[in-house]
Amino acid sequence: MTRKIAILGATGSIGKSTLDLVERNPDAFEVTAVTAATNVEALADIVRRTGAKLAVVADEARYSQLAELLVGTTCRVAAGEDALLEAAAGEAELVIAAIVGCAGLKPVMAAVDSGKTVALANKEALVTAGALMTDAAASSGATILPVDSEHNAIFQCLAGNRGDDVSRIILTASGGPFRVASAEIIGAATPAQAVAHPNWSMGAKISVDSATMMNKGLELIEAHYLFKLPSQRIDILVHPQSVVHSMVEFVDGSVLAQLGTADMRIPIAYALAWPERIATPAQRLDLATIARLDFEAPDLERFPALRLAREALEAGGAAPIVLNAANEGAVASFLAGHIRFPDIVRLVQEALSSAAYDAPHSIGDVLEIDRVTRDRTKAMMTASCP
Ligand code: NAD
Ligand code: MG
Repeated sequence: MTRKIAILGATGSIGKSTLDLVERNPDAFEVTAVTAATNVEALADIVRRTGAKLAVVADEARYSQLAELLVGTTCRVAAGEDALLEAAAGEAELVIAAIVGCAGLKPVMAAVDSGKTVALANKEALVTAGALMTDAAASSGATILPVDSEHNAIFQCLAGNRGDDVSRIILTASGGPFRVASAEIIGAATPAQAVAHPNWSMGAKISVDSATMMNKGLELIEAHYLFKLPSQRIDILVHPQSVVHSMVEFVDGSVLAQLGTADMRIPIAYALAWPERIATPAQRLDLATIARLDFEAPDLERFPALRLAREALEAGGAAPIVLNAANEGAVASFLAGHIRFPDIVRLVQEALSSAAYDAPHSIGDVLEIDRVTRDRTKAMMTASCP
């Protein structure tokens, strides 16, 4: 049976890996809608390859360019926020949520509210609106399938087990490009050094998050909402080889892990085919060649983002939104060359310590706290990072 899928963020790293799997399984999937922020050439190319019926560019100024590129196809072209929501809530039964950042929140919610199966890569959406999103999924009947490799690993380990039998989950972290670097070297890190991840090839924002280890902090919050476990029952363990993608410990002392090579097509394939599996071209795991697997406790001194994220999760309310918004703003400024690497986490810390917002009651509240925090973070940058 063919599954109709929409790919939000089709031009990105996760989007491309998804398309690779879809093209290898032409009978299994029909792409109904694809979206991108600005890259209309890449989006038009994807439409021609997949035969998608709806192509949406978020930037309205690019509408006519996209329309021109797709003349002669039957694809409908649209632009702007409402069109993104339409792509998310349209005819697809499975929505791949692969937009980066809080920009993906409304489209993800549109998919959840319309009861879709959502393959969620866009962790920032869950970090900022976790309770609202899981409540909305419970009332609409939507299923959220984690694409993030760690959460996908846990999801796989939980299959066939009772939630009540889980004692804790262990999120593994590669440690990023600065795992063994001194505080001095980390302090002087350039954008090129920060995005050079040792094991995974990913978009720029998540690569910087991996370098600060904020990525693991966001994943801690993501895990809390996906698996309904308190902070104290979610551990973080550094594992530089990125072979064990995460683990679940059960009440009897058994620990189940999911292993594989560092290729996002493996977790994406699991979400695409769930509850079945499809073949992927991912390299097979050769443990005799890898020979050893190392594990170490994370260093909260050199990577304070982990501590901040845990504090934000435990504080609850609006704290995860503030953590995420300040981080998104600071990472964008770091990538643009405006601030130094350690300023990212310093700005997040300042944003958290000076924030006082009520817990959000709606997605509108979330987006307002996000907007105000970004403005405040920008003002802090101007004041402290000349
Ligand atoms: P990316 O930067 O490579 O791609 C992002 C996609 O989102 C692009 O298609 C872009 O056009 C679109 N986009 C960006 N801003 C937008 C906006 N304002 N409005 C609409 N569309 C917008 O990012 P990525 O690495 O593919 O990551 C996507 C998401 O998946 C992130 O949340 C990331 O944390 C998560 N994730 C990625 C990986 C990975 O291996 N890349 C692994 C785990 C989780
Ligand atoms: Mg991950």
